[in-house]
Amino acid sequence: MKTEIGKIAQLIGSTKRAETPIQRRTKDLSKKLGVFALMTSVITLTLGFYKGFEFTEMLLFALASAVSAIPEGLLVVMTITLAIGGHRMVRRNALIRKLQAVETMGSVTTICSDKTGTLTTNQMTARRVFVGGKEMSISGAGYVPEGEFTSEKGTVDPANEDLVTLLRAGLLCNDSRLRLHEVEEGTRWEIAGDPTEGALVVAARKAGLSQEEENRTYPRLDEVPFDSKRRFMATFHPFQCKVLVQVKGAPETILDMCDLIQEGGKVRSLTAEDRQKIMDQSGSMAEDALRVLGLASRTIEEDELGSIKQNMMESGEKMTFLGLMGMIDPPRPEAKAAVSLCHKAGIRVMMCTGDHKKTAEAIARELGILKGGQRVVEGEELDGMDSATLDAMVLDVAVFARVSPKNKHSIVESLRRRGHIVAMTGDGVNDAPALKASNVGISMGITGTDVTKETADMVLTDDNFATIVNAVEEGRVVFENIRKVVKYLITTNTGEIITILGFLLLLAGTNGIDFLILTPIMILYINLVTDGLLDKTLAMEPGEPHIMDEPPRSPDARIITFKMVQNIFILGVTMAVGTLFLFDRAFSSLSDPQEAKAKAMTVAFVTMAAFQIWNSMNCRSRTRSVFRMKLTGNRFLLMGMASSATLLYLATELSFFQVGLGTVSLSVWDWASVFLVSSTILVVEEVRKFLQARMGGCKA
Ligand code: ADP
Ligand code: MG
Repeated sequence: MKTEIGKIAQLIGSTKRAETPIQRRTKDLSKKLGVFALMTSVITLTLGFYKGFEFTEMLLFALASAVSAIPEGLLVVMTITLAIGGHRMVRRNALIRKLQAVETMGSVTTICSDKTGTLTTNQMTARRVFVGGKEMSISGAGYVPEGEFTSEKGTVDPANEDLVTLLRAGLLCNDSRLRLHEVEEGTRWEIAGDPTEGALVVAARKAGLSQEEENRTYPRLDEVPFDSKRRFMATFHPFQCKVLVQVKGAPETILDMCDLIQEGGKVRSLTAEDRQKIMDQSGSMAEDALRVLGLASRTIEEDELGSIKQNMMESGEKMTFLGLMGMIDPPRPEAKAAVSLCHKAGIRVMMCTGDHKKTAEAIARELGILKGGQRVVEGEELDGMDSATLDAMVLDVAVFARVSPKNKHSIVESLRRRGHIVAMTGDGVNDAPALKASNVGISMGITGTDVTKETADMVLTDDNFATIVNAVEEGRVVFENIRKVVKYLITTNTGEIITILGFLLLLAGTNGIDFLILTPIMILYINLVTDGLLDKTLAMEPGEPHIMDEPPRSPDARIITFKMVQNIFILGVTMAVGTLFLFDRAFSSLSDPQEAKAKAMTVAFVTMAAFQIWNSMNCRSRTRSVFRMKLTGNRFLLMGMASSATLLYLATELSFFQVGLGTVSLSVWDWASVFLVSSTILVVEEVRKFLQARMGGCKA
């Protein structure tokens, strides 16, 4: 635990994962439904007793009605809905590692994204050089190693001593390889490794420096690898019985190590003006949205290697400053649209990058992340800041630059304290604690380390910011679908309960009706067989068109709202009235009491089930008319409806079912009246949707 790895492990271990919104919501819902089921069965039992039914018969019936009150399919359906959402996300390059993250993604209120590679293409191309007191620009695009160096005075001879020393340092202090890759259309230049370093290889090659040759002349003896906390990398090469040290990193860091500068092939001491000039140059490159690296070198004795490697960080290491390289990393073309989609959807986008403040600012402005009135803050300011101060400012900041992984962790925690649901991206090992602290930790699939992928809830297989936004959209669809399915399940159950209670109150005991409206098995058949198919197919519903035009739902939004309860009640009453009406009619149509009983019960059973089949159409959308939706938009639902109807028909026709369920076959006229009466549920819901849209009320 005393090692650096141990510290990360400790931070990961001590970071508590929050209960996901869906867990909280399901808990709330199941508690209420449990109470509801218990209450209704007690009422049914008491009412039945009062009406003089036998105890065992009534107990069975009450149990069956409890089964209908508890949406036993809820858990399964929710899991299926989440899994379908996860599947849709994968098709859009977001790999879900924890199922609940699917829904959490839909509730996200803030996305903290890093810059390089996620918001930008990570296709670095060196554009500007500052070397030997001169500014130069490099032509050429992408990784093709063809281009020229030009200064104010025209083309620069690529053999210029200062330039070659600088480019060589960039080439040696480097872990990337440039190679010609075979593709279908011929060959393409590609970089294996970090694109920042790749840009240096390409630039060197433009001046005729070959990586293979240089590496042969200067083999690597030792190295200090790049680290986003140290912000530099160093390599050591044997050279003429001494050791050549090559360093590259963030300009400030590099400059701090130098007290010499190379100019015109000679080394002289670094003056305060030089420092100022270098920092101005670096600033001007950063303002052009360039990523800037500083390069330096030094020759040491072989026996000094150990101690110098240890003390690299200490200032005054007598390094010779060689120059600056500025590289562009163009924003991803789709990122700007994705950012504005986020804003439309009420989601804050924050950039958290290790890059320079000005580079970050320029890119953020271009992408629309940074707007007037918002702040750009450097990670350094956060060190030692107490959480109250951070909480007070965190929502005004659009860009955090030069952040360390620890800063990221405090930013996430602060956002969470301010009530935000945060999705945070990361790639390095040290990002793991921040990812764990966020509600949805997102790891990069391409550049991410295994540790971050392990802690992440979601992995972006294309490292693209737009993918995060797509995942949010799918997450929202999932929540809507959960609501639709739950509404369907509860409407079904409410319909059955109101029918049963209505029967006990109004019909039982009158006209010689001394039996119950449905057998317990009929209730189970409706619940498990006919509905059982439909609730699952509703989970396949595609998203509604305006799902990204609305602000994120509040973290304590319920699955079932009060409006939905009203809506469910109206639908339930419609079902009950229709069922009781046809039951009564069927019972009075026959004179033989035994025949009348069997037929009336069958009609009630069939009507109840037919209502459910129609109602699945209603539940496709809570606001839009089903007649405005594409009928084939959800083919699974259509198949589900057809199968349910077939199973219902078989339940009345096959003698096997007739014996088990107590049904009898019905005439065409009976079926026709069932069809007509049960389809009224469509009309009722369409009228509700129409009125609600007219009144401009919010969603049910
Ligand atoms: P980012 O969020 O942009 O990925 P990093 O933490 O990777 O930020 O990099 C921070 C800074 O470190 C960069 O601005 C750059 O100056 C420097 N840097 C990045 N990559 C390397 C590297 N491979 N070698 C040396 N310095 C680097
Ligand atoms: Mg990086």
